[in-house]
Amino acid sequence: MKTSDRAVAIAELRNCRIAELNHQGSGFSNSAIPQLPNSAIRRASPHRRSVLLNPITVPPDNTQKFDLLVVGAGPSGLASAIEAQRAGFRAVLIEKGCLVNSLFHYPANMTFFTTPELLEIGDIPFPSAHVKPTREEALEYYRKVAEHYQLDVRQYERVEEVSGSDGDFLVRTSTVEAEILGALEGPGKRHVPGRRAEYRARKLVVATGYYDLPNIMQVPGEDLPKVFHYYREPHPFFGRDVLVIGGKNSAAIAALELWRHGARVALVHREAALHRHVKYWIKPDIENRIKNGEVTAYFDSTVKEILPESVLLQTPNGEVRLKNDFVFALTGYHPDYSFLQGLGIQLTGDECRPIVNQETLETNVSGIYVAGVIVAGSKTNEIFIENGRFHGQRIAQDLKRKLLTATP
Ligand SMILES: Cc1cc2nc3c(=O)[nH]c(=O)nc-3n(C[C@H](O)[C@H](O)[C@H](O)COP(=O)(O)OP(=O)(O)OC[C@H]3O[C@@H](n4cnc5c(N)ncnc54)[C@H](O)[C@@H]3O)c2cc1C
Repeated sequence: MKTSDRAVAIAELRNCRIAELNHQGSGFSNSAIPQLPNSAIRRASPHRRSVLLNPITVPPDNTQKFDLLVVGAGPSGLASAIEAQRAGFRAVLIEKGCLVNSLFHYPANMTFFTTPELLEIGDIPFPSAHVKPTREEALEYYRKVAEHYQLDVRQYERVEEVSGSDGDFLVRTSTVEAEILGALEGPGKRHVPGRRAEYRARKLVVATGYYDLPNIMQVPGEDLPKVFHYYREPHPFFGRDVLVIGGKNSAAIAALELWRHGARVALVHREAALHRHVKYWIKPDIENRIKNGEVTAYFDSTVKEILPESVLLQTPNGEVRLKNDFVFALTGYHPDYSFLQGLGIQLTGDECRPIVNQETLETNVSGIYVAGVIVAGSKTNEIFIENGRFHGQRIAQDLKRKLLTATP
């Protein structure tokens, strides 16, 4: 595309959006649009261009007041907004990545562990060609749900700060251009604060999940670029020496997939065997690969040090040094406790569970609710989509009780 054509195309896209916003009476002006690098816009497909342009055209929204602001557009956040809307409230979702950002960053070829109907929200059926849906199908499903309910999702905007109190919260966000462009990297990897926006809301739901913060082993060399805390796909590791750390589903699935795509795989786990929660259809597969020596497993063992070309393990038989090109440390993830505490939410001492009213999920901070996996604190295997999707109904019930009798 010639430079002049590109300039016209970009101008058209911007003008469309401005016209749309003016039509909505937002009072938003051209000068508020930050400039994306033209090269990024040029490379993008028409759909992606609209994604790239959409978040930066979100106006500061301090003139409008929402009944409910939901932080995080994962399955639980979406369900919370849907239930609030169905109860007649005006809801907005703020999402620092893309829609269902955690699911987007799951392994590319994954299938879910559960059948589709257990992932449904808002009473929208989830059609799938498989007994267990693929990640692609799930992404499409949640896109369709968001469209169906016309959810107001502000993507690529991170909630930075909350002030005010029950009935009148002020939420400050920053739009993050680097995260838009880095959407294909790890879920929380790059964060360069961009334009700021403000929202006012009567109530808040925090549904920020746990997938942004990996559990760090704190071993020397963990920060080397060859060490990953997220597994995406196997092809780049063909013919390489790969160490997988962990003993749960994610580690077992990654080890199997890497081995099937020609990597030389070693697995190290600090316990004596794989975790009992490894799914019944995955367990025999990985156990047989280990028995056949196709995946070399070290149980009751830990990583002592990661070096550029090797790893040092502490095993029951003493230290073992393995030749190594890449490491997948799949040792779990945890919620952003400091974000919750920053809102004034108290956590239990042992398992870091937010203090909540068990019926309504309202926290110790009046007007702030939690939904989804963060309700379980560090016990991230207690709540998943299957059960977290119902939190929104409990919250909406309480909103009806409290907001319909209160003065806006
Ligand atoms: C590989 C894998 C397979 C799984 N398979 C299944 C399965 O088969 N069935 C099942 O039920 N569960 C499954 N789970 C678990 C399930 O995906 C999670 O429990 C679920 O996504 C939690 O939903 P959530 O809405 O609470 O959090 P999330 O889906 O993690 O959503 C939280 C959202 O909040 C956003 N966010 C965080 N901080 C901010 C901020 N400050 N500002 C704005 N946005 C923010 C994040 O970007 C994210 O999009 C699986 C998990 C993994 C890792």
